[in-house]
Amino acid sequence: MAPSLTQAPRNSGMLSDRTRLRMVERLRQGGVRDERVLTAMYQVPRHLFVDEAIATRAYDDTSLPIGHGQTISQPFTVARMTELLIGGRSPGKVLEIGTGCGYQTAVLLKTGVEVFSVERLAPLLDKARRNLRAAKLVQARLVHGDGHFGLPEAAPFDGIIMTAAARSVPDALIAQLAEGGRLVLPLGEAEQHLWLIEKTSQGLQKTRLDAVRFVPLLPGRQ
Ligand code: SAH
Repeated sequence: MAPSLTQAPRNSGMLSDRTRLRMVERLRQGGVRDERVLTAMYQVPRHLFVDEAIATRAYDDTSLPIGHGQTISQPFTVARMTELLIGGRSPGKVLEIGTGCGYQTAVLLKTGVEVFSVERLAPLLDKARRNLRAAKLVQARLVHGDGHFGLPEAAPFDGIIMTAAARSVPDALIAQLAEGGRLVLPLGEAEQHLWLIEKTSQGLQKTRLDAVRFVPLLPGRQ
């Protein structure tokens, strides 16, 4: 028999389960259609990826601080970018630039893709590792490095997702994208947009999408 809410210990998964269901409904209403993405968003316990002090806001449709001046994107942006990356296909191998707290990594893993993720800040990479372990998701390959260079040793990738904004597309990412692959990234400075870049046999097809707000892609690792 399922425990009642009053019997459930504090901070048990039950309340967050219901809140997550509501979050998924909002994503659906917002236009997210891919069931694999919606299921992944339902399955990943977002509250485990933010500090306890703000965990009650984990399922609000807002970005939240994750330390070191960085932010976790709002759920809608995570779902939207994941949907664009998947593009109705079943990508095998995906590269994420900007691991942050590991939340986007977790959502990608839950959609069933193989994930490599690069983060320039060592303390955040450690945090992501702890968060992913707490969420029982340990299959991602997390790498401390500068995402401007992609991850040549694991290329080519069926999809590349960048969660920090660059002024222009880093050449290495285009080079490491497989033919038929999709690159999803924010571009710009004060004004930023999400871009989808598809690598076809005829060349690159670039589509400008939603206005967004991301932290900048910075050079070097620390
Ligand atoms: N996907 C993350 C979002 C984190 S914010 C999440 O779900 O939490 C963007 C991240 O990109 C930050 O952690 C920042 O340190 C990282 N970043 C910025 N420039 C980078 C670079 N050149 N290489 C790798 N990571 C970078």
